[in-house]
Amino acid sequence: MSQTNPFETLRSQLQSAADHIDVEPDVLDRLGHPERVLEANLTVERDDGTLARFPAYRVQFNGDRGPYKGGIRYHPDVTRDEVIALSGWMTYKCALVDIPFGGGKGGIVIDPKEYSDDELERVTRAFATELRPLIGEDRDVPAPDVNTGPREMNWLKDTYETLEGTTAPGVVTGKSIESGGSAGRVEATGRSTVLAAREAFAHRGRTLDGATVAVQGYGNAGWIAARLLDERGATVVAVSDSEGAVVDREGLDTVTVKGHKDETGSVVGLPGATARTNEELLTMDVDLLIPAGLENAIDADLATDVRADVVAEAANGPTTPAADEILVDNDVFVVPDILANAGGVVVSYFEWVQNRQRHSWSETRVNDELEGRIVDAFDRLTATMAEYDLSNPRTAAYVTALTRVADAAEQGGTWP
Ligand code: GLU
Repeated sequence: MSQTNPFETLRSQLQSAADHIDVEPDVLDRLGHPERVLEANLTVERDDGTLARFPAYRVQFNGDRGPYKGGIRYHPDVTRDEVIALSGWMTYKCALVDIPFGGGKGGIVIDPKEYSDDELERVTRAFATELRPLIGEDRDVPAPDVNTGPREMNWLKDTYETLEGTTAPGVVTGKSIESGGSAGRVEATGRSTVLAAREAFAHRGRTLDGATVAVQGYGNAGWIAARLLDERGATVVAVSDSEGAVVDREGLDTVTVKGHKDETGSVVGLPGATARTNEELLTMDVDLLIPAGLENAIDADLATDVRADVVAEAANGPTTPAADEILVDNDVFVVPDILANAGGVVVSYFEWVQNRQRHSWSETRVNDELEGRIVDAFDRLTATMAEYDLSNPRTAAYVTALTRVADAAEQGGTWP
């Protein structure tokens, strides 16, 4: 796996788009750096009475289009530059799907598997306490990301509301339904990946029915995408997690795989399936490849061997810039992360709107409005490719997103 710095990746993606539009270098410089970065050390008591320290970050990348928006991940490999890149991707993702948010991101350097539920609650509440002066319904709205979910978001909301002495359900999204969450939010990232893949297939005159699929990563995004593809008549032939991959050319039962992972902690060891490595999965002869893990999964070395026709990025930043070029040259259609996984933040936006209105929508309404947003963004992407004669869909996505953010920044002006 490549060591490419994700922040460098973000800047090179912005530069590729800037080459085609009228953005001054000083404006591009501003829009390629975060507005502010919080770095904290969370000190938390362990169950045995000893203290543990966890470095933590919250980056507010750009707020020209609305409150900073983005998830918080718990992972031992979290770094400052990674969180900066992720917050930048959020900025351009929100602009691409045209929701009124800026971009932010958070991360705690922790392996959640090593800690009890009580310890994780204390870590989350300690982070919420550090975040309190920075976040708010109209300021910065966190959400789940890798290894976090409704449980952590409920703790965050409760800590914030308790300290502020008020109710503010829209201070965080991705909550459980009972705590003010939205129908369809948990599935939204995987759902948008499948919708985006469907559109990419249609663009190539094909359908998902009967397509073979490999999914790298079986967390919330990967597993939901796999299940929905299975339901739509595609054949999921391989899935993986950090431990390795399992393959069955006849098709895996995605629900059984999820049960096996919940029980044993990994997809590896699934009865009846063949064991493979993640690299082998990524280079399998399939119609659709879904990277749904972490950054840099597909680097230049690996990209030359990718045999899928379409790649739909459920993860953020899974393809390095060098790999991206190779995939384009090899006629692989890559639906970029800022479109393919945008369903998460789109439904976060719907959740925030429902919270502000003290109202709730049906799951059908959520899913229908999500589909409309993703299809519109995809149509815009292909129209931009045609208009600017671009062969790389990611560049087209950034042309649209960067233009929108730069316009808002220019209209806001610079002060003082
Ligand atoms: N963590 C998700 C992402 O990377 C969702 C963010 C959000 O809902 O704010 O897009």
